[in-house]
Amino acid sequence: MSWSDAYIVEPKDFAKEISSFINPSLTLYKAAQVTRDCWQATPGRVIDLIRRMGIEHGGKVWEDCQLVDVHKNGKKYIALAIDHEKNYIEFHCDLFINALGSECEIFSKKLGIETGLYPVRHQAFITRRLPMMGINGEPLSMVIDRRRYKGFSAVYGQQLGETGQIIGCASPAIDAMESDKNVKINSKDFLEIVSEVFVEWFPGLSSVGFQAVWAGYYIEPRMVIDTELGLFNGLRGQGFMLGQYLARLYADQLLGRQVPGYFNRLRLSGDGLPEKAFK
Ligand SMILES: Cc1cc2nc3c(=O)[nH]c(=O)nc-3n(C[C@H](O)[C@H](O)[C@H](O)COP(=O)(O)OP(=O)(O)OC[C@H]3O[C@@H](n4cnc5c(N)ncnc54)[C@H](O)[C@@H]3O)c2cc1C
Repeated sequence: MSWSDAYIVEPKDFAKEISSFINPSLTLYKAAQVTRDCWQATPGRVIDLIRRMGIEHGGKVWEDCQLVDVHKNGKKYIALAIDHEKNYIEFHCDLFINALGSECEIFSKKLGIETGLYPVRHQAFITRRLPMMGINGEPLSMVIDRRRYKGFSAVYGQQLGETGQIIGCASPAIDAMESDKNVKINSKDFLEIVSEVFVEWFPGLSSVGFQAVWAGYYIEPRMVIDTELGLFNGLRGQGFMLGQYLARLYADQLLGRQVPGYFNRLRLSGDGLPEKAFK
């Protein structure tokens, strides 16, 4: 609670503290832990901003290119990319940072680095527009159920501030099993679990349809952020939020600035700062 500036709310206060739309006969939980540090941002806008900052500082963004190979020659990296007109471009550089998400392992292996990371497919849904369901007409904050239930270890979602749509997700408990299936197919289990849990929380949602469902990857089982090896990988379900701050620390360390001690635990040789350290 102290780590996330949280407080405990009893079921009788759920309607006052979480949402007036909450199921008044919800008996699943003894209590809810509410954190005051809850915020949301729009990834597209954040990425646009980061790109703009890079360009303003003299950087160049190569649009729609694909990295096809990387190897080392002495201390130099040689990276081969292909652009959208199918031209090959060879980059010779002192620094190569692998921040390739679910493809990270393919390229770290080419450099002789074994990270042990693997992608786990995560599915998400978005509803149609809804009235604001949070306290005082605000968007519904992120609500998370952390039971291990019907093959999932978490069901969670929040309401988007701009449109009122609920965007939600469920984490499979058996990690690697689903990871190699076609990402376009959303499993029935996922739709069932999110429907069940969200309708249990907010019975009024039972008549609200999904606008879309899709899938992407969480990279498990740990973060590997290593400035010496050029790795920025293993970002999991909180990777959008954490990634921005970790990238700043990454740049700080490259520039020889002071970084917090825990940052070095994220190196490949470190313990990866296991989640249980916070529990
Ligand atoms: C369904 C879902 C919901 C999520 N919800 C949240 C959330 O609410 N909050 C949160 O903080 N995080 C969330 N995440 C996690 C977050 O999206 C990831 O942790 C984060 O995006 C990881 O960042 P990354 O830069 O490591 O990888 P990515 O965002 O995957 O970026 C890697 C990039 O590398 C590019 N790439 C890969 N291979 C190549 C190649 N060969 N050539 C060129 N480019 C290449 C990819 O196209 C991609 O753009 C969610 C993830 C999923 C799947």
